[in-house]
Amino acid sequence: MTIAQRSPIQELPDELISQIAAGEVVERPASIVRELVDNALDAGATQITVRLTAGGVRQIVVEDDGAGIVPAELPLALRRHATSKIHSLSDLENVNTMGFRGEALAAIASVSTMSITSRTFEQDHALKLDARSGELGAAPRAIGTTLDVQEVFFNTPARRKFLKSETTELAHCIEAVRRHALARPDVGFTIWHNGKLVQQWRAGGGELLGSALSQRVRDVLGADFIASTRVIGEDNDPMGHQIGPIHISGYIGLPDAARTRADMQFCYVNGRYVRDKLISHAARAAYADVLHGHKQPIFALYMNIDPALVDVNVHPTKIEVRFRDSGSVHQAIVKTLQSTLSQHRYDAPAQLNASDLQKPVSDDFNGKNTSSHTAQAQSKPSSSWQRSLDSHSSSHAPVQRQWAKQSGLQLGNPLKVEEMRALWSASTRPTQAEPAAPSPQPLAKQVDDTHTTTDQHWPLGKALAQLSGIYILAENEDGLVIVDMHAAHERIVYEKLKKQLSNHAIAAQPLLIPATFNATPLEVATAEANQETLQTLGLEISVLSEKALAIRSMPSELRVADPLEIARSVLAELAHSDATHVIEQQRNEVLSTMACHGSVRANRKLTLEEMNALLRQMEQTDRSDQCNHGRPTWRKISMSELDKLFMRGQ
Ligand code: ADP
Ligand code: MG
Repeated sequence: MTIAQRSPIQELPDELISQIAAGEVVERPASIVRELVDNALDAGATQITVRLTAGGVRQIVVEDDGAGIVPAELPLALRRHATSKIHSLSDLENVNTMGFRGEALAAIASVSTMSITSRTFEQDHALKLDARSGELGAAPRAIGTTLDVQEVFFNTPARRKFLKSETTELAHCIEAVRRHALARPDVGFTIWHNGKLVQQWRAGGGELLGSALSQRVRDVLGADFIASTRVIGEDNDPMGHQIGPIHISGYIGLPDAARTRADMQFCYVNGRYVRDKLISHAARAAYADVLHGHKQPIFALYMNIDPALVDVNVHPTKIEVRFRDSGSVHQAIVKTLQSTLSQHRYDAPAQLNASDLQKPVSDDFNGKNTSSHTAQAQSKPSSSWQRSLDSHSSSHAPVQRQWAKQSGLQLGNPLKVEEMRALWSASTRPTQAEPAAPSPQPLAKQVDDTHTTTDQHWPLGKALAQLSGIYILAENEDGLVIVDMHAAHERIVYEKLKKQLSNHAIAAQPLLIPATFNATPLEVATAEANQETLQTLGLEISVLSEKALAIRSMPSELRVADPLEIARSVLAELAHSDATHVIEQQRNEVLSTMACHGSVRANRKLTLEEMNALLRQMEQTDRSDQCNHGRPTWRKISMSELDKLFMRGQ
């Protein structure tokens, strides 16, 4: 038997302890920006300037006009576990500052070259401390503090290797400031990069905080965000809701504005940006009835709660929190979101503009239409919002009847949501008595088998009508065929895209008028870094400025799609995967996202001709029996099943 050689137990040197700590809090330049802005806010700054060089890798300077640090405490600021923010356990349980652990500056200093220059109102000049040499000297500066961090990870080359391009690191740094800016409309923020001004958000004046916030949200997230969200609060009063000990305010997105990624979800607990599972779960639950599939709602939510009721000391970067009474927080969020969503539902006009629903899609189907892109992009949010709710409620009525039948409930008695859910899960569980309908024989195969052209022999038959804006009803030799039109179209588009991509690249079609839009720094960086990939995907997106992109070409298969939606969701996929080989590794996810956006939506009225065209395309498409999410695209009810249903011949 061999015994592993024993090494002696030793205390680690200070520098190494800090470097280990840095591993937890300093992932990239943006993490440093976040910590330094946290500190500036804790010092009561009203104006914060961030100056970056080479995406923050070469240099990050954060200047504030806060209270400053007295000379005697300057060296302490750089020591591990030295903080002015808490002094006792009871302070820790009532944290109302962004920082409290006293480790950020020590950690940052251990992986960079850092200096700190500060002046309080009592001093007639500032003092500058070099973190590495410990040298202290006079320096010119107004009241406040400047942190100068250079050559991030210069002494930890393994970590430096993980850094991405300058544009990507810059985008993350801007995102970090953006998160702070959304929380503090009373503070002005300015960002410079390589000597150029890239962002400036002015402090809200002496007006009500509500209007300062709405201005800040508009400045940071754009007018589009405001237009596609609703304010939390009675009668649009931005004062929010108080439910028990928790106050919730902010903006929540209409279901139509939902995205494929959770990249427009900003949530704050007592001014701290968090990504908390409980909160996302509650948000998802609130939208469960109005959002399909995996779509992510957009929102900027601000929650305020007695600090004693929330533990912020559970995550190294404090991005997660723990609530003492998580159940009531969950409930408060669901309730607030649901009431805001439903309030606006009843506010909205009861009837839709008929022309809104009945816009024929024939041109889109035949590929003649290029101008409808812009028209679609500009459709009024209120009507599309109403539409999704309407389709939701109408499509639920028959299901509810079915539940009622199975459970012996009286029709006419409204069910509570929980009751419906319980019945739904009971009714969808497969039982012995009712085997699941057999999946239909693959269509493409049936086409091969039937070398005939009379309409009687088309496997999916001849279209009869459209039901409820969702299903196509068709008649074939055997009986009734029911097709889920969105699911079917999605599969057709997906298969076409896949085929084109495997043949080289997805066919692109230039837009008559390029669609320009305000983009986030991350979207701009992603577009810039992935030009080639985008081209392969049939998208030509050019960078107009640091804040604007222009879509010049679209995949020709996606004519019915809104170019903005496609571009945004593809960019979100690319940013998320952050891989150079996205085409190989995430091909199907990206294509399926594109197909979903590029497919005909519920409530588009189709002519019989278009319905037949869709049925014929399905027959030609491999794997057209299921949509990309594995749901069936069509079902059949044979004549004999219909006869049985009506007890004919019995
Ligand atoms: P923490 O923020 O958790 O206290 P840090 O390491 O980030 O720990 O900062 C250490 C201390 O340095 C802070 O407690 C604060 O007293 C002081 N400090 C850091 N940055 C600033 C600043 N910009 N203005 C005033 N004081 C600061
Ligand atoms: Mg700090």
